[in-house]
Amino acid sequence: MTGLSVHKDIETILLTEEQIRKRVMEIGEKVSEHYQGKDLHLVCVLRGAVVFLADLMRHITIPCSCDFIAIASYGADTKSSGVVRILKDLDDSVQGRHILIVEDIVDTGLTLNYILRLIRSRNPASVRVCALLDKPERRVVPVEIDYLGFTIPNRFVVGYGLDFGQRYRNLPFIGVLRPEIYGGA
Ligand code: 5GP
Repeated sequence: MTGLSVHKDIETILLTEEQIRKRVMEIGEKVSEHYQGKDLHLVCVLRGAVVFLADLMRHITIPCSCDFIAIASYGADTKSSGVVRILKDLDDSVQGRHILIVEDIVDTGLTLNYILRLIRSRNPASVRVCALLDKPERRVVPVEIDYLGFTIPNRFVVGYGLDFGQRYRNLPFIGVLRPEIYGGA
């Protein structure tokens, strides 16, 4: 399926539904193993990581809970402004808990770096990071990813939760958006 286009705005499919499903299952198993005997609290970064969280948590076999945080990111653009601020804070306390941050994609690392510092300042028992995608070419701040789905090239991708102007989140695969859609051609 890779290389074919199944949507008029998608240039290429980078990761098929099947590839994602397999990898998410593997990550769920790994997470379940590592946190055996501990209460795991998943912190999902809205809105892009929602689809990943929903699939991932169904492959976690130990007791876990989840909460959501929203951070201002690209808006309708494809370039990071470098400005990071909280749009919606967590509902529950993280103090003394084992936190796993669930993120869709790490690009410059600014968002994750901000969330990590925020959560660490609230005295959790531990903090780890789980990201579906990593675009290391554009990193500005170094961040450690404990559980990673896929490393991808420096292309703007949509689908499986990832948007452009709030669209394409519902695509079941991850694809490269045609540059003419965002004026990047
Ligand atoms: P960072 O702060 O690491 O630069 O960016 C993280 C956020 O930027 C992600 O959570 C995501 O919302 C957005 N982002 C970065 N690269 C892409 C991309 O290729 N496609 C989409 N849809 N969003 C991206």
